[in-house]
Amino acid sequence: MLKVKKHIYIALISLVLLISCKDPKEYRIDPVFTDYLKRFETEGALRGHNFSPQTDGLIIEFANLSANTAGLTHYETPIRIEIDKAYWNDITSSVGADLMKEDLLFHELGHGLLGRSHLNTTLENDDWKSILCGGTKVAERAWNINYRGVRRKYYLDELFDVNTASPDFASLTLPVDTIGFKTDYLFTFADESQSIWLNKTSSQLAISIDNRRIRFQSSVDKIFLVFFSLQSAIDINSTFSYEMTFYYPTGDASKQYGLIFGPVAAKSDGTSDPIEYFTINNNQKMYMGNRSCYSFYTELSESSILSAGVNKLKVYKFGTSLYYFINNVYCYTTEMVANANINEVGFMMPPLGTVWLTNLVIAHKGASSENSMKIKQNKPIEVRIQAIDNSFQHTLKYR
Ligand SMILES: [Zn+2]
Repeated sequence: MLKVKKHIYIALISLVLLISCKDPKEYRIDPVFTDYLKRFETEGALRGHNFSPQTDGLIIEFANLSANTAGLTHYETPIRIEIDKAYWNDITSSVGADLMKEDLLFHELGHGLLGRSHLNTTLENDDWKSILCGGTKVAERAWNINYRGVRRKYYLDELFDVNTASPDFASLTLPVDTIGFKTDYLFTFADESQSIWLNKTSSQLAISIDNRRIRFQSSVDKIFLVFFSLQSAIDINSTFSYEMTFYYPTGDASKQYGLIFGPVAAKSDGTSDPIEYFTINNNQKMYMGNRSCYSFYTELSESSILSAGVNKLKVYKFGTSLYYFINNVYCYTTEMVANANINEVGFMMPPLGTVWLTNLVIAHKGASSENSMKIKQNKPIEVRIQAIDNSFQHTLKYR
């Protein structure tokens, strides 16, 4: 007991020494974070919150935090925020890194300067309600927050006012008209003449026709991206839809499968193409994102997914936004990253999985399909299969 008391005594002395040595108004911001702090002050001022960290004190510094932690706020005097150097460097080269960094800084400043604690509730569309999502995990959901595009303004409003009304993007009432689409491409995969990928069968990925469907069986622990080249690229300014029907009955329920589409540059090695993806798994989770980003935008729970059943995934593109449907149920919308004409489309295979596919349809909104997107019967369709690492999607770290 004495030993314990002695330890406490020494700890107290040390603490007093530490506190007495420290300037309670110290203002020390690593230059890398200065701009983010300024933005926080500006956004706060626009909403009636005024801060004077230069005179009141604040420390924001890099640290080597534990492997699962991206940022930490210490309620000391002054407030001290640590940002994990490895995480910061890791996200830096990704598309969208600036807003990911802002999200992290604003989350920590939400703790430090606004005194807010974690808030892990969700909006109607299952987006996180707040930039303050974090701490103890909820149902193992990743902390990835879709802090981009129109969402930024809402999340800033909510950061400075927890009573901010639910935003339009969270509504599950579809805001666009999906009537009047004309089919440009249709593959049913009912027989060999319909089955564009058959000649790509290999020891790692066996492809066959099975009972009027096309069957892909992967024997390796990698993600296969399976593409075909459109005979004429889809104009990025057009309004189009893309759908495919999947059946993945027996594999690992946590593995994702779904649609991919995007612009692929000539001679690309495929590693950083801005390919959009819309995937699900049999645990009723949905993911959406772009391969040039650090990870999926967010992870959603979707009851319209039929676990181990047949699932139709469909995405509509209007303007710069994508509208995601699972089995004809509208689930989510967000802005796309791809901003060049779409010349390759296809799907993502679950590692070590077997998938049956039917009904690949690409359509556009307009008066007729008398355009060059029609399949020219005498021109072969180019196909491509790319094996990628399983770790291209990251889950956002503890904060
Ligand atoms: Zn936090």
